[in-house]
Amino acid sequence: MFKAQETLLEIDLKALKHNFEHLKSKLKDNTQFLAVVKAFGYGNDANEIANYLQDLNVDYFAVAYASEGVALRQAGITTPILVLHTLAVNFDVILDNCLEPNLYNTKILNEFIAFAEAKNQTKYPVHIKFNTGLNRLGFLESDIEDVIYKLLNTNSLKVKSLFSHLAASEDLSEQNFTLNQIENFKNITERFSKKIGYTPMLHISNTSGVLNYPEANFDMVRCGIGMYGFGNSKKESTYLKPIASLKTVISQIHHIKKGDSVGYNRAFKSEGTVTKTATLPLGHADGIGRIYGNAKGFVTIHRKKAPIIGNVCMDMIMVDITNIDCKEGDTVIVFDGNTTSAETLAESAGTISYELITGISQRVKRVIIK
Ligand SMILES: *Cc1c(COP(=O)(O)O)cnc(C)c1O
Repeated sequence: MFKAQETLLEIDLKALKHNFEHLKSKLKDNTQFLAVVKAFGYGNDANEIANYLQDLNVDYFAVAYASEGVALRQAGITTPILVLHTLAVNFDVILDNCLEPNLYNTKILNEFIAFAEAKNQTKYPVHIKFNTGLNRLGFLESDIEDVIYKLLNTNSLKVKSLFSHLAASEDLSEQNFTLNQIENFKNITERFSKKIGYTPMLHISNTSGVLNYPEANFDMVRCGIGMYGFGNSKKESTYLKPIASLKTVISQIHHIKKGDSVGYNRAFKSEGTVTKTATLPLGHADGIGRIYGNAKGFVTIHRKKAPIIGNVCMDMIMVDITNIDCKEGDTVIVFDGNTTSAETLAESAGTISYELITGISQRVKRVIIK
């Protein structure tokens, strides 16, 4: 095992390839794969991940915001990039970097048409999003006529795809709701395609959509979390490999006695059962939030669980190592693909893998394992 001498996020590109191939094996040969690399590639390293996936011939990328697309272009990504959350202030950056905006309401559609016309664009690629139940971004079915009218009155835009987003694809108790979203999407896109006179690509599924609703893959799927190794269910996660391991090191060991306290606000007070603590160089500024404090979260040292005691500090945590034979300088695992997954650690504090992995801050050094 790699010996950590500081806090490191190791990113295993072979595991990424495994996950990519596993998800692709669920698709028909002609279904395109869009890799979602927003939020710094879910906290991993968007540039490394995107370059690696581009070499594996991924069809599309998506980011949340334009600035994330610019970073990918600067890192040498030439594959199409969909910007999921278009903001009018970013139109220039979108055009200058050949990014493809999601147009999700009348305001952003009108403004982008005016912008594209002013810039003398013809057939600039855009994506139209419909709201089928998430109530986050997207046109309603009742907007179809108006959207079509505007699109047929300009030659500055070309609709590359129509898409929507599932609200609860990982939650099988919401199956009826999801099936209804899929049905709505079918109806909306059929009406739209007929009226516009050509058939844009269609896509609605995220990772759990691919795993739970194979009939909804349409022309493309948009996978994020699955590529990074999590399937949103115990069963699906067994087929995937977490690509990131967060490791750190023991900076200092303290021996404490009954009545001693540990950390800020004396949140932990020993009743005598905890006699040995280790201080580790990562805290809430690194992405281990205060919700993991006070024995909710834990790390692993020499295969043994060491609960976090007291409050999480900005730059450090203290853990209980009373029953662990270890010394200063020893390696500590926060999460990885074997010992404790980010999914398990997140659950210990009542949150989800997405939040834990995207929250690992840029202060933590990334190490790419090829
Ligand atoms: C983040 C996101 C995805 C990826 O979802 P996963 O559950 O990570 O696969 C897909 N589509 C949209 C619109 C998103 O915002």
